[in-house]
Amino acid sequence: MEKEVKRMPEKGIAKEEVLSRLQSMKKDDANYRDARMFGLIYNAGEDVEEMAREAYAAYMFENALSPFAFPSLLKMETEFISMVSGLFGGDAETVGSMTSGGTESILMAVKSAREWAKANKPEVKNPEMITPVTAHPAWNKAADYLGLKMVMTPVGEDYRADVRAMKEAITPNTIILGGTAVTYPHGIIDPLGAIGSLALKNNLWFHVDGCLGGYVLPFLEKLGYPIPPYDFRIPGVKSLSVDIHKYGYISKGVSTVLYRNKDLRQYQFYVYSDWPGGVYATPALSGARPGGAIASAWAIVHYLGEEGFLSLCQIARETTLRLIEGIRGIPGLFVLGDPPATVLAFGAQDLNIYRIGAKMKERNWHMDAQHLPASLHMTVSPAHEKIVAPFLGDLKHVTEEVSRTKEEPATGEAALYGMMGTLPDRKMAKNLALQYLNDLYRLKE
Ligand SMILES: *Cc1c(COP(=O)(O)O)cnc(C)c1O
Repeated sequence: MEKEVKRMPEKGIAKEEVLSRLQSMKKDDANYRDARMFGLIYNAGEDVEEMAREAYAAYMFENALSPFAFPSLLKMETEFISMVSGLFGGDAETVGSMTSGGTESILMAVKSAREWAKANKPEVKNPEMITPVTAHPAWNKAADYLGLKMVMTPVGEDYRADVRAMKEAITPNTIILGGTAVTYPHGIIDPLGAIGSLALKNNLWFHVDGCLGGYVLPFLEKLGYPIPPYDFRIPGVKSLSVDIHKYGYISKGVSTVLYRNKDLRQYQFYVYSDWPGGVYATPALSGARPGGAIASAWAIVHYLGEEGFLSLCQIARETTLRLIEGIRGIPGLFVLGDPPATVLAFGAQDLNIYRIGAKMKERNWHMDAQHLPASLHMTVSPAHEKIVAPFLGDLKHVTEEVSRTKEEPATGEAALYGMMGTLPDRKMAKNLALQYLNDLYRLKE
């Protein structure tokens, strides 16, 4: 039988009709505006959303590939990088690039480190990189793409990197140490000062992944919350990544990678000078780059200003504290570690946390399931301020219900995660995930 394919319509469809079809296709999508989702979208309310949308639209078609054609984008990018550097203990020497997201920022830092090692540690033929297991998979992806060996070390009971384990993992081939502020799974800050010293002592590149915590930590610190060091003030840090499409509240497609100085950033650049199309030189991975992304990042920092960020961060942190306290007060539940910012995970002592997650989903609360160890994940946005009481009420109710009722066979995501976390053979877990992806990204109906 011939395989069904979708064809584009022979004749164009009127704009209103296309737009109305787009709207109706959204009907099964997650609704983030009611603040019942705790991931994927970072929501600071409608006025911030409007600002980002209008700035993006104003530069929708401009292409940052050519700073000569669009000098305004070059100006915005360099101003933005300079402002962000100031937030992270940088100075006039600090430089960086805007990228498409945290993954590209980390990929670029690892690429720069690899090239730096070629120049400064020529004896290393098979470079290795060490990160704690809680580091974002973007690191694993970078190692995979760039041909580095990935060495992952355990975390302590507080879910922070075990620095002694990192030290013991160093071999003559090690070129990079990685640490995170804050970690995606548990919202924890690694002992970055100690990792920095280790890097300096062994002449290693040290990258701090501030993708998630980036636009929260500097403001929490200014507000007087206890925040351990996380930026260029740590002498060993050579590069740092920060996503403004997370706690900068703008649409996806914008992140920043910073370097202590331009000599380090130079390893990131790519130049091909023999192309018939001209000398091709780009700072980071992307060729064509969306002007809208740069304009909306520039717009949001000007719209909010430091005052706006301080106020939003305070709301998000106070909301997180109320959630942590509430979760700790529910018998059977516990928060993993002691998260200092706005991201947390919680688990259950003798109950199946995935059943709790599934029952919360029935009540229209959306949290991602995690494993190793089993937990539910929450990234808290300012917009969550208004849902703390109803959320905790439902969570208490659902937890009691799960502890009263017998275990039913898990279904859906709960089943998938329950199984993935307990599979002894990690290769099998990987193959299952690959099959799943293949099946997911195909035409249906
Ligand atoms: C989100 C995230 C990344 C990856 O960023 P993308 O924008 O999804 O590519 C990297 N590190 C941490 C800690 C993150 O939370």
